[in-house]
Amino acid sequence: MEFFDSHCHLDPMRSGADLPEVLARARAAGVVGMTVIGTRAADSEAAAELAAREIGIANAAGIHPNDVHEIEPDEWDRITRLIASGKAKAVGETGLDWYRDAAPRELQRDFFDRHIRLAQTLGLPLVVHTRESIRDTLDTLREACGRGPLAAVLHSFTGTAAEAAEAVELGCHLGFSGMVTFRSAAELRVVAAGVPLDRLLIETDSPFLAPEPFRGRRNEPAHVVHTARCLAIARGEPLEKFAAATTANARRVFLRR
Ligand SMILES: [Zn+2]
Repeated sequence: MEFFDSHCHLDPMRSGADLPEVLARARAAGVVGMTVIGTRAADSEAAAELAAREIGIANAAGIHPNDVHEIEPDEWDRITRLIASGKAKAVGETGLDWYRDAAPRELQRDFFDRHIRLAQTLGLPLVVHTRESIRDTLDTLREACGRGPLAAVLHSFTGTAAEAAEAVELGCHLGFSGMVTFRSAAELRVVAAGVPLDRLLIETDSPFLAPEPFRGRRNEPAHVVHTARCLAIARGEPLEKFAAATTANARRVFLRR
């Protein structure tokens, strides 16, 4: 069986990575692809280098909403240069975070808009972080969709069934992380069970959000298999079918060019 981790962070600063071992364990678990996500200029550039030398790896370049107030003066230029030069398969992660509220909301909105326009101009998928901001996020995406085509991925989705349906209607893909495996997440499993199979993605968000039975430990792409198994059961689908579909979805979104 083949699995695709559609959202992970593998920069040594965050994950402490022993990268060759992490990648080897992922391959051994059947993880044939992953999208390595940037949150600043440096990890976006590192993700691009990794994607250029490893098979099956896509990468996203962007500034995380919780970091937009802390970037160096040249970081946005480095991101746009990387993306314009064709070295990124996706734009992000970007979005709105009203939970941490680390950065001023207006600045988060400004950067979200910049990422969206970049993705639309270049026809690249957009990786979206939304936390306690789903209403504003969906409104922003709807407005953007009015201007032209946009392929957005709502990563680590935790919204309601109605919000999921609205995102699907806007053409979004929804990524589910290890959170969906937690005992307390019964409602989220019901939401995930209602998402059309061709819009579903699975992810680890490594090194965070490790699924059961690794909850609280450092997460890595190999663990996405546990999230897949949990979601396949919740949906009443054979794991083979679920794995094949989510892998095909991720390849279609992130690796088509
Ligand atoms: Zn992330």
